[in-house]
Amino acid sequence: MEAAVRTTCPYCGVGCGVIAQVDADGQVSLKGDPDHPANHGKLCSKGTALADTLGSQDRLLCPEVNGQRTDWNAALNRVAEGFARTIEEHGPESVAFYVSGQLLTEAYYVANKLMKGFIGAANIDTNSRLCMSSSVAGYKRAFGADAVPCSYEDLELADLVVLVGSNAAWCHPVLYRRIVDAKRARPDMRVVVIDPRRTDTAEVADLHLGVRPGSDAVLFSGLLGYLFRNGHLDRDFVDAHTQGASAAVSAAMASVPSLASAASQCGVSARALAQFFEWFAATERTVTVFSQGINQSSSGTDKVNTIINCHLLTGRIGRPGMGPFSFTGQPNAMGGREVGGLANQLAAHLELSSGRDRNLVQSFWGAPRMAGQAGLKAVDLFHAIDAGRIKAVWIMATNPVDSLPDADRVRDALKRCPLVVMSDCVRQTDTTALAHVLFPASTWGEREGTVTNSERRVSRQRAFRAAPGEARADWWIISQVARRMGFGEAFAYESPAQIFAEHARLTGLSNGRRRAFDLSGLAALDQAGYDALEPVQWPVRADRPEGTARLFEDGRFFTDTGRAQLVAVTPRGPVHAPNREYPLVLNTGRVRDHWHTLTRTGQSARLSAHVSEPYAELHPDDAGRHGIEDGSLVRVVSARGEVVVRTRVSERQRPGSVFVPMHWTDQFASCARVDSLVEAVVDPISGQPESKHTPVRIESLRTAWHGFLLSRERLNLEAVDYWICARAGQTWRYELAGVADVQDWAGWAREVLGGGADWIEYSDAAAGRYRAARIVDGRLDVCLFVARAGALPGQERLLPLFDRGTLSAADRLAALSGQSGGSAAAPAGPVVCACFGVGETRIQEAITKQGLTTVEAIGELLQAGTNCGSCVPELRRLLQTEACGRESA
Ligand code: SF4
Repeated sequence: MEAAVRTTCPYCGVGCGVIAQVDADGQVSLKGDPDHPANHGKLCSKGTALADTLGSQDRLLCPEVNGQRTDWNAALNRVAEGFARTIEEHGPESVAFYVSGQLLTEAYYVANKLMKGFIGAANIDTNSRLCMSSSVAGYKRAFGADAVPCSYEDLELADLVVLVGSNAAWCHPVLYRRIVDAKRARPDMRVVVIDPRRTDTAEVADLHLGVRPGSDAVLFSGLLGYLFRNGHLDRDFVDAHTQGASAAVSAAMASVPSLASAASQCGVSARALAQFFEWFAATERTVTVFSQGINQSSSGTDKVNTIINCHLLTGRIGRPGMGPFSFTGQPNAMGGREVGGLANQLAAHLELSSGRDRNLVQSFWGAPRMAGQAGLKAVDLFHAIDAGRIKAVWIMATNPVDSLPDADRVRDALKRCPLVVMSDCVRQTDTTALAHVLFPASTWGEREGTVTNSERRVSRQRAFRAAPGEARADWWIISQVARRMGFGEAFAYESPAQIFAEHARLTGLSNGRRRAFDLSGLAALDQAGYDALEPVQWPVRADRPEGTARLFEDGRFFTDTGRAQLVAVTPRGPVHAPNREYPLVLNTGRVRDHWHTLTRTGQSARLSAHVSEPYAELHPDDAGRHGIEDGSLVRVVSARGEVVVRTRVSERQRPGSVFVPMHWTDQFASCARVDSLVEAVVDPISGQPESKHTPVRIESLRTAWHGFLLSRERLNLEAVDYWICARAGQTWRYELAGVADVQDWAGWAREVLGGGADWIEYSDAAAGRYRAARIVDGRLDVCLFVARAGALPGQERLLPLFDRGTLSAADRLAALSGQSGGSAAAPAGPVVCACFGVGETRIQEAITKQGLTTVEAIGELLQAGTNCGSCVPELRRLLQTEACGRESA
């Protein structure tokens, strides 16, 4: 048994500490780190299942050029020469890097240094642009710095937590658990959830405001006016520490003159809104949490500032239990902000627009030519590729063909780009398919570096296993290309510790507390110090070696005047409103157990069992109006494209809205890339796309048959109209449907699945049923069940057959009947508890048959909800549904 390694979860911006232990057989066990201040030992379902995702299946294991395996030297030379030649012929603005919040800070720092200081352009942007750049812009306008004021402990110290545009229960589960636990300990603490959808986050809420999509700025402008009119302002704080209050209040009151006006514009009851305004006004210790629901908007920056305005007017900032608190999406979105990963920033929170700052960085780096102006933000950067202005792009650890808006245009642009380079750990994504050069990157558990979470806490990611094949760290790959471009001296790094020390030195350079971001207290870290680095919140200075929990305690901000700025906002609606052709509003987002484009969580059977198919959730009124049944297949169509997904009809959705998750790609579904629907509309200040407000229509898809397929290997099902792929045990599970009737199923099966000598089949042409199993070397390889209509057997009973050696006669029969013998589990329905694999059907049965009335009772009987707690809101909802059923019976 090797020594335990303390590291940090690679998923969301909570940044939970994880302890990894590798046994003598190389098996990895993981648990939450009880000493990490972000999570105190807790992990959510994704963190708990991290060990499932460590396999080397699907990994990119060696460098490739034009689809051919090559060695590192050849691939690095190809990229260095390609970039150098493009720069020589077309100038530095003709090349770009598109990087990611998955990168560690050290790699981010080196990429930014190469682009902005040595190539001499600022065309480096990041997928964090899609997640939190409106918060960055809002904080900078208000505080003069991209500085999150709060700490996680403020969520527990608050008397009122307002969650707006945040489904924390699914997207930041461990922080959600901290809020739930705090409320349980102090029932008087209040929680308000503001979201058009009634998500699981609302399960803890004293009040849920299901506002009209896009109306958040109206709501907080209404609140600002209410606070002013009713004398709920901190006059001393406003006079001593802020500017712009009068203009901000006047603008708010001009747009939203009364509470009644706010309620009508937001589409909520005046009574409910008055309740929220009264609670906010009366509660000194208030934290307002905001996330993608606020940021991903064409007026996201203004929305952020309307929230901050309310905190500044009431002086609720810089003290325990209060403040405007953005939750970042990715594990190192904050680290990217710190090193200048955004095209409009320099490094160390220095300004690209300042000649003084540019000179400072240039001389620190010994850089030959500094970028003189901001580069292209993500959406514009890919438009420039589309227009042929950018001719070489290096994409690192992200999948823009699926995650950028107007995603089909992004794909077309990359197809035409003369040089596309990708560093990734995964071999086959929708973006790697278009790359000329592939660099195999090491990933979580194999690499060393730091990340910064949503509360400014810098934590170490540490390696506990060797990288497979020839995979190398991102910082090494970038430095090697830089050396080959002639910048050897400035990129002669031997370790991430060296890079971190340089980065920390730069943050302290000519700072003198002019900039919030300061790691100068860590600038002298040597390798041993770096190895032992404990999680710490910046600023970390000589006088604050223990870090800083809360900013602005002294009422001093980082604007020129030292005062915080209230920003006058006139609320604007989304750019594209629903219309006759596209009458519904599409909202995109995450599901509980998946992450980004499924490259990691898609490898885990238990994570794939919670939501295994992409879906469109819509209100019963809309479903009825469009003649759509729950569970049927639909087309969701926008002016940009379409997806085909399964319907979920739910009262939790606001009428007029549709929610479709963002995770599915062409690797996992026939047609479910939701960003192919989204318009490339951005906030004019932050450049963040409006991912939550695309007008769409929804149409039923008539199918002639449906079915499923279990297979040992991934399959190419291009010929099938509808397919979805998900991990199930050791196999891959496909849901299938077809538009046209099939006359010859046996021929179809062989054509789609390939040949093989040993097939067993059952066919009932009159009833429209066909079942087949292909046996290879005596073992079950594929089984297929299709039907024209009606239910199919549960798949759970078939999965154990794939674990057997040579199939017996009974097994062969079972492969066609769907009834395996032995102890196979009964159908459990969709998995609710991923930790213990407890399905919805079992829980419902237990509630009704055993008369269970509490989450604790379910846990005692079935274990569900007793580990990570991510499913507790769903358990509570199932209890409520059953209770309602009993009452109405
Ligand atoms: Fe990872 Fe979950 Fe913690 Fe996020 S909340 S860092 S996904 S364990």
